[in-house]
Amino acid sequence: MDIPLTSAMMQSVSGEKLAVALAQQGGIAFTYCSQPIEEQVKMVKAVKDKNLKVGAGVNTRDYEQRIPQLVKAGADVLCIDSSDGHSEWQSDVLEFVRKNYGDSVKIGAGNVVTADGFRYLADSGADFVKVGIGGGSICITREEKAIGLGQATAVRNVVAERDKYADEKGIYIPICSDGGIVYDNHIIMALAFGADFVMMGRYFARFNESAGALVERDGQKYKEYWGEGSARARNWQRYDSEQRQVFEEGIDSLVPYAGNLADGVTLTTHKIKSTMCSLGASNLKEFTQGARIAHVSSIAVLEGRAHDVLRK
Ligand code: IMP
Repeated sequence: MDIPLTSAMMQSVSGEKLAVALAQQGGIAFTYCSQPIEEQVKMVKAVKDKNLKVGAGVNTRDYEQRIPQLVKAGADVLCIDSSDGHSEWQSDVLEFVRKNYGDSVKIGAGNVVTADGFRYLADSGADFVKVGIGGGSICITREEKAIGLGQATAVRNVVAERDKYADEKGIYIPICSDGGIVYDNHIIMALAFGADFVMMGRYFARFNESAGALVERDGQKYKEYWGEGSARARNWQRYDSEQRQVFEEGIDSLVPYAGNLADGVTLTTHKIKSTMCSLGASNLKEFTQGARIAHVSSIAVLEGRAHDVLRK
């Protein structure tokens, strides 16, 4: 990857168009697995036909069929799509990949929010670990089940364990901060907290190339954006063990329309580079390692915005 941005494995986000547009900017889209295997294979092939990189989500149900077909289609990287990754099911998928492909197929696992969760997936052979439970913009997991953790705390927990693991075993396993990133400064904060890259749903859903439809409400333009745990997605594989979805963990929503992906991503990467420059970092590694994190008061948050003036 040339930029540390990936798109969420979601029906409303990562279709063929978005995968092409994001790869052209140097990021990677993860095509969603809540679709028939043949459809996902078609998507992957369409991006590979353009000589671009593409990722593919997989689930812990039909992986023995799905993974071989995605690998054959040329998927550059796989990722297990789950709201809770600290499970034997994920370990089984990772074992399947290692047994059949050795290290030649790269696969991420997650999501986790704890040091234990990270270590479990690292020991199971994950190539990267995705962090975040309950923080997604369309996510109601914490309201429905009380599962999850604040994103900054989760990233901090896992980053510490990643570094400990690297010291102990000499294996560096990158981590991806996933869920709750709304503004460009959130991306920058995730990297400053030590994440190696980020995954985003809402951010990409706003662009022309996302899979959701463009709609107009009260003269404003929006794009449709629905969670994989919403009734609309019908993705019981991600949430339930009884082959049916008993309750929702995500909502169906609208997000403000934001034009072309290339323009949005260019603006975002300019801001990341400008922050790096402020810190004297000439690459992302220097940035993630050199950034300092401090607690600030609620007054400091207010003073950090424009305040006590009438905006013209
Ligand atoms: P966002 O970037 O804040 O919109 O969050 C996107 C992330 O939310 C995805 O990458 C998933 O990890 C997660 N997610 C996707 N669909 C759902 C859902 O329906 N409920 C809870 N989390 C979800």
